[in-house]
Amino acid sequence: MTPEIIEKMFPNPLPSIAEIEAKYPPRQLPEGAKVMRVAPSPTGFMHLGGIYQGILADRIAHQSGGVFFVRIEDTDQKRKVDGAIDLIIKSFERYNLVPDEGVNLDGSEKGNYGPYTQSLRKDIYQAYAKKLVEEGKAYPCFCTAEDVELLRKVQEKTNVRPGYHGQYAKCRNLTDSQILENLNAGKPWVLRFKSTGDYEKKMAIKDLAKGMLLMPENDLDIVILKGDGLPTYHFAHAIDDHLMGTTHVSRGDEWVSSTPLHIQLFAALGWKAPKYAQLATLQKLDNGHKRKLSKRHDPEASITYFWEHGYPELALVEYLTNILNANFEDWRKANPMAPITDFQMNFNKISNTGGALFDFVKLNSISKDVVARMTAEEVYKAVLKWAQEYRPDFAKRLTDNQALVTAALNIERGIGKQSRKDIVKWEDVPADLAFYFEDSFEAHPELLASYERADVQAIVSAFAQVYDPNDAKDIWFNKIKEIGAQYGFCADMKAYKANPSAFKGNVSDVAKILRVKITGREQSPDLYAIMQVLGKESVLKRLKG
Ligand code: GLU
Repeated sequence: MTPEIIEKMFPNPLPSIAEIEAKYPPRQLPEGAKVMRVAPSPTGFMHLGGIYQGILADRIAHQSGGVFFVRIEDTDQKRKVDGAIDLIIKSFERYNLVPDEGVNLDGSEKGNYGPYTQSLRKDIYQAYAKKLVEEGKAYPCFCTAEDVELLRKVQEKTNVRPGYHGQYAKCRNLTDSQILENLNAGKPWVLRFKSTGDYEKKMAIKDLAKGMLLMPENDLDIVILKGDGLPTYHFAHAIDDHLMGTTHVSRGDEWVSSTPLHIQLFAALGWKAPKYAQLATLQKLDNGHKRKLSKRHDPEASITYFWEHGYPELALVEYLTNILNANFEDWRKANPMAPITDFQMNFNKISNTGGALFDFVKLNSISKDVVARMTAEEVYKAVLKWAQEYRPDFAKRLTDNQALVTAALNIERGIGKQSRKDIVKWEDVPADLAFYFEDSFEAHPELLASYERADVQAIVSAFAQVYDPNDAKDIWFNKIKEIGAQYGFCADMKAYKANPSAFKGNVSDVAKILRVKITGREQSPDLYAIMQVLGKESVLKRLKG
């Protein structure tokens, strides 16, 4: 292409390649250090998969002494939404995936390899695009959207693989004078990559998540600069990941089919491609069938779902880590209290069989364990933070009753494997704590319908008579046994089992009667401890109520 054409295509002054490369010197990092990034698009929706990919990137980068950064991929201006960048930054921070470089909440940047927002890098992409044109590796295409649609139809009809390739790449063969004429006429154009690939040939690609892939070379002349002069994802990521020194790319496997093209683009630019770890899309079971978690149909595809329902951040991170590296579960069992960052993430442990199933049963079970490992004070703080955002009325209840709530949360906590596991997520807590407060306590006499009313009354009033909040637990329990025995409920389980029909029931029935009267529930943490937290006045009121 003549200098005149190139001048017409790129009329604005652009930095030289040497200038750009001087601004992005190779990173000085220890041997083996990996540089990884997340590169979300600010569409106003933060997909759970973004955090999933981010966990891999953050852990591998940081455990190798490398760098983890965030890049905002906003070249699709039509999809851009106000506040979307904030959502991205807050999402990663919330899960403690703190980038070393990238965009800050106030719009400023940290790091020497920026700008980290693609729309601010237009000149850089243009400079490399111009270089490819000069080298004969890219050309302007004047096909309109209608032309491309027509091409698709023709290919469909004649059973030809769709796309801008081979003889169908019409503008590839334009002469210089035709190009000049089109440019002079002000015809809109996009820039296409002149592919040298052969679809009949296969290339081997080692994917760190999927293993060895054998794929046809790319022969599509894909668009690298759009009509607005901004790059497509393919072109932008190649330039950015090269200049920013990315060594390993963690991204979704929707990019697998484009990987031959990406490797080709790096080569055309004279660079070594990074290694790719392309992660299976998170899936869910729907009527026995696996399908992709969908933004449109599944609320849990959005990270904010987990905020609203109050899933502890660590629970989600542990769960996603477990999907990434299935040996995490054994590691956690062996190291119950170790910080998660001690776990060594490994590309080799990523399962490459099928999709990654997102399973609430497993998440909830991990979450229960995570909450069980927390202290009452930590739980209180986390629940309060959640409530301030999603349940302000409950937040007030918490702050007005901090001592009581903390004491209630402290029951059966901190005792290892036996710690209570009744909280999955913060959303469960209001109902869990409701019986501690007079205005939300609900008596449920129907839960005692299987007992004689007279027995219930007799037991409850006898207990109210002897109840002393200063009793130690064994004394308290002896009182329960004695009262039960008085009314025909056997105090000794062995004796009861030997001849159950001789009794109305046993001591566990007596405890149940008291539990239902005091908490309105059949099940609760330790009743003695609950009564201590409630205090004499409340207990007596409920016994007499
Ligand atoms: N912006 C791309 C996306 O949102 C990122 C892919 C990548 O991580 O390279 O899908």
